[in-house]
Amino acid sequence: MKHYDYLIVGAGLFGCTFAHQATLHGKSCLVIDVRSHTGGNIYCENVKGINVHKYGAHIFHTANKRVWKYVNDLVEFNRYTNSPIANYKGEFYNLPFNMNTFYQLWGVKTPAEAQAKIKEQQQEMEGQNPKNLEEQAISLVGRDIYEKLIKEYTEKQWGRKCTELPAFIIRRLPVRFTFDNNYFRDPYQGIPIGGYNVLIDRLLDGVDVCVSTDFFAEKNVLTAMADKIVYTGAIDAYFNYCYGKLSYRTVRFETELLEGVENYQGNAVVNYTDAVTPFTRIIEHKHFEFGTQPDTVISREYSLEWTEGSEPYYPVNDVTNEDLYKKYKELACKEKKVIFGGRLAEYKYYDMDKVIESALNRYEQE
Ligand code: UDP
Repeated sequence: MKHYDYLIVGAGLFGCTFAHQATLHGKSCLVIDVRSHTGGNIYCENVKGINVHKYGAHIFHTANKRVWKYVNDLVEFNRYTNSPIANYKGEFYNLPFNMNTFYQLWGVKTPAEAQAKIKEQQQEMEGQNPKNLEEQAISLVGRDIYEKLIKEYTEKQWGRKCTELPAFIIRRLPVRFTFDNNYFRDPYQGIPIGGYNVLIDRLLDGVDVCVSTDFFAEKNVLTAMADKIVYTGAIDAYFNYCYGKLSYRTVRFETELLEGVENYQGNAVVNYTDAVTPFTRIIEHKHFEFGTQPDTVISREYSLEWTEGSEPYYPVNDVTNEDLYKKYKELACKEKKVIFGGRLAEYKYYDMDKVIESALNRYEQE
């Protein structure tokens, strides 16, 4: 049996980036994944020429020049700019919160009018330090926006009250006084031309890969095959849930091919921000790549609490879970042969660019 420098458990972005770097430096890697394909959650399935983001929409954006150059050296990116629409009980609003949204909500037409309105709305939280997501949202944009565009969406997505969620989640969203619907603040953004599988295949060039391989089913044999292990699965699963289970949110996708429908919703992402609609958003995949196919594929996303056997997507970084994660992290630090990295192993709400950055840094430490 071949012996490797690294056994990499999980063929997502962290594992593939680490494998790519190690291979470039003359190290041998075996990447395994329990799924029947590589790519982790950025994997796309081609349906009638449309790249369907099988595990949820992924839009690459970054402020990190090094990461942007790194991915562009592997695959060309298109000029897709995320500008989701919010549908609140049939009313449409632009996201993120910008002059278009303020006009739609209050009829204000100038930045000065919008700022005055927001200031008036923010008074409720004046002088107070936001302790949770609700307070953070109100102190950022006030109660009107909180109630129509944040509260019910967030409570659907996380299955928890906004008063029980950490403030940082909402700080991801920009607030601007220009008519700019670009969801992200980052200067670089796009989707790989040809889809994310191209990026993954290039990262895995020259790397041995074994899919449909369960690390836990053959842990001893697999561990003996390499000097070091890079583990990117859930950290609590690695330690057999010895301190109990960390909470995750999972997503159920209801994906539909609409034959003969060229354009279903006119935008890649429409968020349903009311509590009446059971799903959080509808993704129309072709718009990520300006598709001109005669058909379309849409996915409705339903957010649920994770249970064993389903896919963990979002770590729930509340106080209880953070404390539990710290205990697992202490155990992880004692595993000298194992590197823990990525969204699940670090229990962190990582974006793709941050995952790549962290894998590059982790390999450099090696
Ligand atoms: N959010 C919201 N209304 C929206 C979209 C997002 O209140 O229409 C909040 C919600 O709390 C969510 C967070 O912003 O968890 C981050 O949303 P984003 O779309 O960036 O998360 P993703 O699911 O794409 O990682």
